[in-house]
Amino acid sequence: MSSQPRPTQRAGPSVSTTVTEEPPLLAVDNLHTTFTTERGDVPAVDGVSFAINEGEVFGIVGESGSGKSVTALSLLGLADGATVTADRLCFRDEDLLTKDEAALREIRGNDISMIFQDPMSSLNPVMTVGEQIAEVVRHHGDVGESQSLFAELRRKYVTGTSESSASWQRAVELLDTVGIPDPADRANEYPHQLSGGMKQRVMIAQALAGDPDLIIADEPTTALDVTIEAQILNELLDLRDEFGVSIMLITHDLAVVRETCDRVAVMYAGEMMETADTRT
Ligand code: ADP
Ligand code: MG
Repeated sequence: MSSQPRPTQRAGPSVSTTVTEEPPLLAVDNLHTTFTTERGDVPAVDGVSFAINEGEVFGIVGESGSGKSVTALSLLGLADGATVTADRLCFRDEDLLTKDEAALREIRGNDISMIFQDPMSSLNPVMTVGEQIAEVVRHHGDVGESQSLFAELRRKYVTGTSESSASWQRAVELLDTVGIPDPADRANEYPHQLSGGMKQRVMIAQALAGDPDLIIADEPTTALDVTIEAQILNELLDLRDEFGVSIMLITHDLAVVRETCDRVAVMYAGEMMETADTRT
């Protein structure tokens, strides 16, 4: 996959003609998320509604503290300690509000992936990056590998190395996909051996390993310098073009939105002020 800079003005959402008849991938109506604290209730998200279509890059922009992260966490049952309500919270035809923790974990592994601002919070420091990605691939289970405990033990202890396994090869492929040079070597490295930009790419590879339909990226490039940021955003757009994955991109940076998103919603103080085509 190329990491060439692309023109900043994209020719509109390339998939708009194919989604006209389809319901949105994600539909959120009147989402409320309230934290109960010692100093009273904090309405972090206060009646937010939006929809994300298949293959769309949907931006949520807003100043720090406006409720962007809590909105994302609420979708996936990850807003710990909060009360979440909504008139509708649907992924495809599935009602996310009625799912129990196990069902939500399945959805997080297979349908919706999250990328956070700080890669170290999601990467395991004592596992090679290749193993971490291979684990997600195996969990997703579409590489023709047996999922049984026996097969797992055999891979670990009889073959002595997991390098010949299909899931490892898929991990190397994914590292290549997100633009990591020498992916076969890099797969054997630990997170601390990689630069910030490389770690963020590993997170994206890990997010892709479950073959998701939606990637939620919460300020994925905020900690990086602008050159690396541009490269990584371009990788995300390439992934959308190549795999048709939808992306919910959370940022406080309007320039990022302008260059990447088909539509954008603006959040302020827990509310969504407007949703519009990025050009508008
Ligand atoms: P953003 O991602 O837009 O910067 P957040 O979604 O993280 O903002 O936070 C929205 C609001 O919710 C903020 O006022 C924040 O203080 C509050 N908040 C977030 N997490 C918690 C929590 N665990 N307990 C109490 N309040 C929280
Ligand atoms: Mg945030």
